[in-house]
Amino acid sequence: MNFKKSSYSAITCVTVAQLGDGTIGVRDSKVADGPMLSFTADEWAAFVAGVKNNEFDFGTSNMTQTPSVGRICHYVSHGTPVQPDGSQTYTSVCRAAIVTEVSDNAGFGPVVGLCVLNPTGQFFNRGVEQDERTKAGGTWHWPERVS
Ligand SMILES: [Zn+2]
Repeated sequence: MNFKKSSYSAITCVTVAQLGDGTIGVRDSKVADGPMLSFTADEWAAFVAGVKNNEFDFGTSNMTQTPSVGRICHYVSHGTPVQPDGSQTYTSVCRAAIVTEVSDNAGFGPVVGLCVLNPTGQFFNRGVEQDERTKAGGTWHWPERVS
C-alpha cells in the first residue's frame, strides 16, 4: 500500500491510499501502524467534491493566514445609500486591494492599510478590520476560492 499525503502538508497529515479492491484507505501519518478507515470509490468521490467546494474548511484555513505587506485581498465597498424608492446606485461589492501596512488590533486580529483598486480608480484606506464571516462593507477578507 502506498499512502499519500497532501502536497500542502509539510509535516504529519491525513494519508490516503487506493486499496487493491478499489476502496480508499485513510490513515493518520502520526500513527503509522494505527487504524485505517476504508471507503468505497463513490463515498470518496463525494467527500473530495465536498472538499473542493470548501465544505470542510470550517473557517480555519483562511482565518489563520496572517496578512503581510504586498499581499492581495478583497476590500468590501460600502455601496451608496439606499434611496426611498428602494433603489441603490452602487451595491456593496468585493474590490481587489493590496496590503500596504499591517498592525495588530490588540489581539483581535490584524488591521491593515489597503490600496483599493476600483475599476475606475484607486484609493487608500487605513485601519481596515478583517471580516471573513459576514464580509461587511468597509472590511477586508481573503479572496474567495472559485472552483
Ligand atoms: Zn471577496
